[in-house]
Amino acid sequence: MFQANTRYRDLSESYLFVTVARKMREFAQEHPDADIIKMSIGDVTRPIVPAARDAMLRAVNEMATSEGFRGYGPEQGYDFLRQAIAGYYASLGVTLDPAEIFVSDGAKSDCGNLPDILGSGNRVLIPDPVYPVYRDTNIMNGSEVRFMQATQENGFLPLPDENTEADVIYLCSPNNPTGAVYDRAQLKKWVDFANAHGALILFDAAYEAFVNNPALPRSIFEIDGARRCAIELCSLSKTAGFTGVRCGYTVVPQELCANGLSLNKLWLRRQSTKFNGVSYITQRGAEAVFTPDGLKQVRENIAYYRENARTLTDMLDALGWWYTGGKHSPYVWFRCPDHMDSWSFFDRLLTETQVVGTPGAGFGACGEHFFRLTSFSTHENTRAAADRLLRAYR
Ligand code: PLP
Repeated sequence: MFQANTRYRDLSESYLFVTVARKMREFAQEHPDADIIKMSIGDVTRPIVPAARDAMLRAVNEMATSEGFRGYGPEQGYDFLRQAIAGYYASLGVTLDPAEIFVSDGAKSDCGNLPDILGSGNRVLIPDPVYPVYRDTNIMNGSEVRFMQATQENGFLPLPDENTEADVIYLCSPNNPTGAVYDRAQLKKWVDFANAHGALILFDAAYEAFVNNPALPRSIFEIDGARRCAIELCSLSKTAGFTGVRCGYTVVPQELCANGLSLNKLWLRRQSTKFNGVSYITQRGAEAVFTPDGLKQVRENIAYYRENARTLTDMLDALGWWYTGGKHSPYVWFRCPDHMDSWSFFDRLLTETQVVGTPGAGFGACGEHFFRLTSFSTHENTRAAADRLLRAYR
């Protein structure tokens, strides 16, 4: 008899956003006239910027000619895109060899696939609360998962101490869901810890474009010593509105080795075995994002979301509810009123205001009593949602 992967029993019944969507659907069925405002899943609303659109249209036309047609591309991504990404890192003061950059269909897949090149005996340390994919993929793989507590007291930015034991450490900054951002000194503590203990950091920089202060790091490779201990994942989803287009990248420095094996070579081997690359059209669109015009247009979109974040934080100020995030992140993370648990507050908010957010408990036990709203909606919906909360709870 064949065996199923019984580790799936250790996962929660469904992925967080599937549960949120189901509850919203059920509410909509029971209240067909309700005008529901979705401020939950981190999907963007601004259209793809003109620079990326034009580049993709040109690529489609190229592909439809005998001379311009391309079939399978290089598994690691086309040189033109890897050069463009290396150029972007150079603007942050980080030198990368394009051979260290792997283009993918997004950071979620890379997050889920990276454990393929790591041994099964690693002690994996994951912040709580955090993007649920780190926890779930490690449970699926049977790794030993430990959690580090991110709390209001430590500013949702846990740091290593004398009791920290880990072989693989996930860090996400700017953080999903809390919006907290590590500064250079804090990231340096993690890099020093990893180098001193032979640990590997998997650094998720999916929201780097939202960092609004040059003093704060956007890449872990801005920190001395990180090339010896870190892999960085990034995505064009939130930066360039590519959630539907699908393109991300992962940086695996040449220095990273374990058991006499180069992780860069292992990742290349893994990708060339299990992945056939991102479409030429998408990669041309992604390349255009890193041109001066593309970057300017993308920054305008980010400024739009920032204004939404401001609408939400102004609302929370007026309500007097404790919150964090929203400054260097599209997420605003606040404490539920009246000591409510976060799923009860989810139900209350949906029933009383028809606004849908994300309960903090869905991101980990330490997220209990907190709630996440996103600034990825339109100005109109964000203002309407803020007005509804002010009317209901002020
Ligand atoms: N990493 C974090 C922290 C995220 O919040 C997300 C998406 O919400 C991703 C990665 C996945 O991004 P992508 O769309 O590139 O798969």
